[in-house]
Amino acid sequence: MSGSHPMRKPTQGPKAQTQLRTLERLEAACRTRGRRLTRQRRAVLRALLAEGGALTAYELHERLRVADGRSTPAGVYRALEFWMTAGAVHRLESTRSFILCEHPESPHPGQLLICHECGQVVETEDKGVAAAANRLGERLGFVLDRHPVELTGVCRPCRAQGRAAEPGRRPAT
Ligand SMILES: [Zn+2]
Ligand SMILES: [Zn+2]
Repeated sequence: MSGSHPMRKPTQGPKAQTQLRTLERLEAACRTRGRRLTRQRRAVLRALLAEGGALTAYELHERLRVADGRSTPAGVYRALEFWMTAGAVHRLESTRSFILCEHPESPHPGQLLICHECGQVVETEDKGVAAAANRLGERLGFVLDRHPVELTGVCRPCRAQGRAAEPGRRPAT
C-alpha cells in the first residue's frame, strides 16, 4: 500500500526542527507586520509541519476539525492563500495540495520533485531551470510572473524498497 511511511516521524528529525524554527520566525514576522496570526492560520502551518508532506485543503480541514470544531474548509483555504502570499506555503498544481516552503525567507523560483509512490516532495532551486523557463517565455513572447515546475517520479527510498521499476527496466509486454 503506497502513501504511508509507518516508521517516519515527521515532527522530529533535523529537517522538521529547522522547519519549526522557520515557522516560528514566520509567525513572528506576521505579528510584527501587524497582520493577524489567527488561530486558523497558525493551525494550518502546524498541521502541514506535522504532516511533513503535502495535504489537500480538505485533508487539512479534516485534521483541524478534530481539534477545532469551528474549522471550515473555506477558512482553511483563506489561511492557505494568506500563507501562499507570504511565501510560506506552495501549492502543488498536479495534486491540488499544499506544502510548507523549505526556505520561505527568500523569494525563489523553485522546483518541486514529487514522489508518486509515497508522496514525498523535495523542494530544490536550480537557477538553470528558472533561466531556461524565462528564455522559453521570451522566445514565445511571454513575460512569466510565476513558473512553478513540478516533476514527478519515484524517490530514492521508494526505489530502494522496490516500489517501482527503474525507467527502461519494465518488462516488455
Ligand atoms: Zn519554497
Ligand atoms: Zn517515495
